[in-house]
Amino acid sequence: MARVLASSYVPFIGGVYAFRTYDSDEFRYVGMTTDSVTARERQHFRLAASGKRKTPFYDWLRKNGRENAFAIPLAVVTTGLDDLAASEIEWIARMRLEGHRLLNLSDGGKGPNGHVWTEEQRIAAGDRARGRPTGVHLTGPDSPRWGHTHSDEQKAKWSAMRKGTNTGEANPNFGKFGEAHPSFGHRMSPESRARLSEMRRGENNPNFGKTMSPEDRAKKSAALRGRPMPSSVRSAHTRHHTNKGVFKETCRHCIDDRNNERGTP
Ligand SMILES: [Zn+2]
Repeated sequence: MARVLASSYVPFIGGVYAFRTYDSDEFRYVGMTTDSVTARERQHFRLAASGKRKTPFYDWLRKNGRENAFAIPLAVVTTGLDDLAASEIEWIARMRLEGHRLLNLSDGGKGPNGHVWTEEQRIAAGDRARGRPTGVHLTGPDSPRWGHTHSDEQKAKWSAMRKGTNTGEANPNFGKFGEAHPSFGHRMSPESRARLSEMRRGENNPNFGKTMSPEDRAKKSAALRGRPMPSSVRSAHTRHHTNKGVFKETCRHCIDDRNNERGTP
C-alpha cells in the first residue's frame, strides 16, 4: 500500500458532492465545488434562504431545510478542473442510472461555454448581481445590452444545445402532480401580480388600439355561435366585475382577488 508522505503534496482542485435527507437514502442533487463541501453546503442553504434561486433543487432545499438535508462528499479531484467537471458528469450519470431522482437541471460538467466557475468567480458574479436593484429589470435603452444582438450562428448553437434538455422525462418535474410538484400551492405575491398586470395594461396590451375589421368580426361571430357566453365563471367575473369595478360577495373570483390584494392566500 502506498503511503502518503508529507513531502508528496497533492493539490486540492475540488470535490463532487451530493445532497440527500436523513430519512431517505435517495440522492437528489449532485454538485461540484472548488471549495470545501461544508462551505459549499452552507452557501447552498444561504442561497435557498434568500429565495432568489427558483430551481427544483432550491425548492427542495427550502422544503427540507438544514434539519433534514445535507451534503456528503463523493469524490476529491486533484488533477485539474477538467477532471473535476468530468467527475461531476460521471456521478450525475451514475446516480440517475441507479434511479436517484436528481433535481439537477443539466448533466453536469462545465457551463454552456465550456468554463468551470471557481468559487471566487461565483462570488464576484453574485456581488455584481447584488449591486443591481432586485426585482427591477432594466429594459430598452437603460439595459446594458441595448442595441446588442447575438449572431445567428451563436443563436443556432445555443438552440441546438438546449434542444430537448428539459423536455419529457428529462424534466426534473416530469410526472409530478399535486403536492409532489415544487410549485404546488405557490401563489404569486400581490406585488408580482400587480407588476404583471401593469405590463399588460393600456398601450402595453398587445391588443391596444386594435379594432377588428367587419369581416373578421363576422368570422369570429360565426365561429362562436351557439357557445354560451361568457364561456366561464372566470370570464364573466373579468367582464362584469373586474372591468366594471364591481365587487360581488357571491363571486368566488371577486373574493379571491380581494384576498390577494390583502396578501392573504
Ligand atoms: Zn367577480
